[in-house]
Amino acid sequence: MSKPSWRRGARIVALLGGALALTILTQVGGVALLLTAWLARLRRWPVWLSVLGFVAVYGVVSFVVVPPLAEIGGRVRLSCVAGPGRPYAAVNPGLCVLNRNYATPETDALVAALATHMADRYPGTITRFLDAGFPFFDGFPLMPHLSHRDGRKVDLAYYYREADGRRVLDGAAGPIGYWAYEAPGADEARPCAHAKQPNLRWDFAALQSRVTRRADPERMSAALAWLTTEGRAHGLRKVLIEPHLKQRWAPGVDMVRFQGCRAARHDDHLHLELSK
Ligand SMILES: [Zn+2]
Repeated sequence: MSKPSWRRGARIVALLGGALALTILTQVGGVALLLTAWLARLRRWPVWLSVLGFVAVYGVVSFVVVPPLAEIGGRVRLSCVAGPGRPYAAVNPGLCVLNRNYATPETDALVAALATHMADRYPGTITRFLDAGFPFFDGFPLMPHLSHRDGRKVDLAYYYREADGRRVLDGAAGPIGYWAYEAPGADEARPCAHAKQPNLRWDFAALQSRVTRRADPERMSAALAWLTTEGRAHGLRKVLIEPHLKQRWAPGVDMVRFQGCRAARHDDHLHLELSK
């Protein structure tokens, strides 16, 4: 193979690899990248213009083209920012940039109703959601989640207290909402302590010492009490958390369940599943 064709081959492999990675991360990013690459080749754009071009194409695809198409397929965008009468939002705007905030209208309504209830009962409380789903296609998983593939699953951040006990009205324990674990105490259940099978139960031990906020047991119990009663009427089917947190916040409630030892840990967020 001559040198230029070797280079061309490497470029194509890099382009396809990038498109695959973006598809896994954002669903539509791979298409945006390939579209930009085609335009860049057609117009002979230099590298800097190609990078800017990708940002522009990705922005137009994500924020102009995708939302109405997703709606035709039955998925809406959960709100990226909180506002008057809307006390809930993505934990981080990056979630919306990555198109990971799509769900069925029923899921959106459930999150909105929970957030309104919590804000009424604990004024100032903003409910933050984490990963929901992608805009299109049932069965297309939102990695690394195994089950977020039909728009009927959404993860919520816990409600937190500062180390001195003050309520955190708005905000999770960290910028992305995951990985700040409410680990079981010495006398609490640890069903996966000796799990042998391969699993997604990462510890991220180095991060734990940086976490100063702790889940607020009062608001967590209130949220779970609402979800497992009123939430049921909104189509909520199940809530997944670790057994020791169920014992602390919703003992004996059968729709609050353990996800098992093979899935990711669920002592850093609430996972909700709806029937619609
Ligand atoms: Zn989940």
